[in-house]
Amino acid sequence: MTPLNAETLLAAPAANRFDVARVREDFPILQRLVNGRPLVYLDNAATSQKPRTVIEALNRYYSMENANVHRGVHYLSEQATAAYERARRRVQRFLHARDSSEIIFVRGTTEAINLVANTYGRSRVRPGDEIVVSAMEHPSYIVPWQMLCEAQGGRLRVIPMNDAGDLLLDEYERLLNPRVRLVAVTHVSNALGTMNPVKEMIAVAHARGIPVLLDGAQAAPHREVDVQALDCDFYTFSGHKTFGPTGIGILYGKAALLEEMPPFQGGGDMIRSVTFERTEYAPIPAKFEAGTPSIADAIGLEAAIDYLERLDRPLMEAHEAELLRHATEALAPIPGLRMIGAAREKTGLVSFVLDGIHAHDVGTIADRDGIALRAGHHCAQPVMERFGVPATARASFAFYNTHEEIDALVAAVHRARQIFG
Ligand code: PMP
Repeated sequence: MTPLNAETLLAAPAANRFDVARVREDFPILQRLVNGRPLVYLDNAATSQKPRTVIEALNRYYSMENANVHRGVHYLSEQATAAYERARRRVQRFLHARDSSEIIFVRGTTEAINLVANTYGRSRVRPGDEIVVSAMEHPSYIVPWQMLCEAQGGRLRVIPMNDAGDLLLDEYERLLNPRVRLVAVTHVSNALGTMNPVKEMIAVAHARGIPVLLDGAQAAPHREVDVQALDCDFYTFSGHKTFGPTGIGILYGKAALLEEMPPFQGGGDMIRSVTFERTEYAPIPAKFEAGTPSIADAIGLEAAIDYLERLDRPLMEAHEAELLRHATEALAPIPGLRMIGAAREKTGLVSFVLDGIHAHDVGTIADRDGIALRAGHHCAQPVMERFGVPATARASFAFYNTHEEIDALVAAVHRARQIFG
């Protein structure tokens, strides 16, 4: 079978093309106007839009099924518990995890990382120990480790990157000394779109007995993730960037590690028995889910995954690759425009600066045309420093974006140059 890429996609007959017009109908918000113009939503790396099935799942749950989980013996509570646990099994299959007990529901990627830092980290990191992160991490991936290192007397080490936005793998290997307790790297960068060679990076760390945590916030919406094939020890992602609700995210962890780790928060649902003298914790995953969880949002995430998996994934990925190619080629010739990040492998994201024009001004001009862009440091100040720019304009794509929307972006950039240039 011919592998699908942007070229074969363009040459393919209509039946073999990703049907963007059809999927757009599933997203009510894409039908609305902003500033009198059809919405062009190019801020998917910040949060993605939600298909109708996700909105309906939330509506149905609150209208007909709402009850607390793991508690009541009544009909609704049993139904809610079954639905919540079914959502967990859905996420397990989505990530190809071995067992559903390895899937912990959290609020999002940030909480997942804080959980690992505060449990695995605090129980393992001793004075002089090291945590290795990369130069392209999101603050969610820097600050919890800094806090951990401060509390435990540990040290944060950083894998550098080159001008294209690719990590320097030789430097990475050199950092892996016997004091390293964890490698915590992003699967895909939110500022540059770089897709890191995580499988190789994990193999190198494992050869030295070092576990690896991957931040999948920007990968899970775009690529199939197989945690067993990757052999990562932890994986995280956020529901809201994966076409699901806010307030729900996932921490995957290998069972053996999760079982050894102390709990994160104390409260109901994470205990087997409790007296004033002593508490016995529940087995995983309940040990890490204190208090009433985001039941509706877990069910909404299940609907998002169902939606995503009904799409033709190879066609979807080829469509996103084609959007990236088109945006890169159409923006590059604009005078004074500098692209930030040209990694070997990228997801659908372009970050750029315009000579003498602040990224916010580009964002404001685009907004007048109903185009949602991100302008700023994208929660990646160290990345901006590395490239010597205060801020960039960022357009990040999802499968429901079109060529015409990218053309609208290019026109807005030209207009910004006329007005401010
Ligand atoms: N990591 C990356 C790479 C991200 O892009 C983001 C969100 N911008 C996060 C972590 C944090 O995710 P959340 O805010 O959903 O916790």
